[in-house]
Order: sequence, then structure tokens, then C-alpha cells
Amino acid sequence: MPFKLTSEHVTLTEEFAHRLIRVLRMKIGDRVILCDSRGSEWVAEIVGAETNTVRLKLIDRLFSPTEPTVYVTLFQGIPKGEKMDFVVQKATELGVQRIVPMFTRRTVVQLSSDRAKSKRERWQRVAISATEQSGGKIVPEIALPLTFRQATDEASHANLWLLFYEAAEKPLREVVQSQQNVNHVAIMVGPEGGFDPSEVATAQQKGAQVVSLGKRILRTETASIVAVALVLYELGLLEL
Ligand code: SAH
Repeated sequence: MPFKLTSEHVTLTEEFAHRLIRVLRMKIGDRVILCDSRGSEWVAEIVGAETNTVRLKLIDRLFSPTEPTVYVTLFQGIPKGEKMDFVVQKATELGVQRIVPMFTRRTVVQLSSDRAKSKRERWQRVAISATEQSGGKIVPEIALPLTFRQATDEASHANLWLLFYEAAEKPLREVVQSQQNVNHVAIMVGPEGGFDPSEVATAQQKGAQVVSLGKRILRTETASIVAVALVLYELGLLEL
């Protein structure tokens, strides 16, 4: 389960708290293994349990990764229907750490804030079961949907920000291979209708590299999975 390390204690909220207490029926004094966002594993003991929060004390560190891991965030223009479930499931199986649903100019779906919250919870549950199913250690965090502007603000902190655009002139490989010391990648894919050219220009001004997946136009959900898989592959993250 993902957690933020503050001191020797960590606090899990919402889905993770629910999962420990309600689903796995764990109690104060029980021990679990936590993985942090860099893949380190810790033995932790439950020291406090409420409905929405569980406090744990870190007891022992089990594993420390020798290779630095790359933190990958997928920014997905929200597609219609159940397609987002599919994207969350597949991107999780592949090993992204964070998924940010975003509203773009051509996003058709509209969500009230309550609905956005419940969608996020549903996508988070999809991510939890996809992580378990694929033997992954880190459950990606699903963000509340952001506007395109908010998403670009966040993506600009990554040291490799790739915006996938069917009219791009640069191939993905060339861009990824020319980057050194990549430790935080942002991948952006548009909704069914694609990105508006003004969005592409804005992102480019803020530091995005605009890249192509070839001459064919892929459906948004295909594009995301292919983009994630190829970026991970180019960075050598799909090797044993
Ligand atoms: N605007 C287009 C297609 C959008 S495809 C149209 O309606 O004809 C949906 C998303 O998938 C795009 O925003 C882009 O992020 C990604 N995508 C699809 N094919 C791509 C390609 N060949 N290269 C890069 N990105 C692609």
C-alpha cells in the first residue's frame, strides 16, 4: 500500500484504511508490510484505527531498492463510458504510480464535484485490484479530476513531460533517448476528440515535448496503454 513517510508513523486514509480494517479485518497490534513510493518495504504495526484513518508505526525496513525507480504519472483526457476503468486497470498493470483524469476542451464527460469524487473512488478501487492481480507493490494514486491548466502545472514538475499528439513531428524514441537522468515522467493523452491545438501549444510553452506514436490514429484508450508501455520500455523499466 502506498504511504507518505513523515516520521516513524504513517497514516493511511480512505480506501487503504477501509481495506485494512473492513476488508482484511485487521486490528490494533496487527502487522502489515507497506511499500513506499520508491519501492522500499517496511514492516509496520497498526497503532490506531478509525473509520477513515489508520495509524501505523514503522518497525523495520525490509528492502531498499538498489536502482532508483522512475515515477510515472499518466494524465488522461477523460473518455466516455467505462473506458477510464480500462485505462486505469491497464496502466496499473504496467506500473504507473499516479493517474490524473483531466478535463480538456474536447472532453465530453461532465462531472459534478460529488460525481468526480465517487468516480475517483471507483477508479482507485480498480487500481487496487489491478495492482494485486499483477503482483505490483505500489498502488497508483488516482487524483481527483483536474482541469487541463492544473494538469499542465503539475506535469511541468516532471523532468520528462511527453504529450502525445497525432500531428506531432517527433517520434517518441528520439525524445526519450535524448533525455538523461529521468526520474519523473509525465505522460499526457487526450480524450476521444484529441487535444485542441491551443492546448498543445500551451503545454509546449510550459515544457512539454510533443511526440507521436506513428501515422495511425489510435483510440484514446489504446494510445494511453501503448504510450505507457513504450515509455517504460524505452526507459528500461520492463526488464527483469
Ligand atoms: N483528434 C483525433 C484523434 C484523437 S485520438 C481525431 O479525432 O481524429 C485520442 C488521443 O490519443 C490523442 O489526443 C493522442 O493523445 C493519442 N493518440 C492517438 N493516436 C496517436 C498518434 N498516432 N500519436 C500520438 N498520439 C496519439
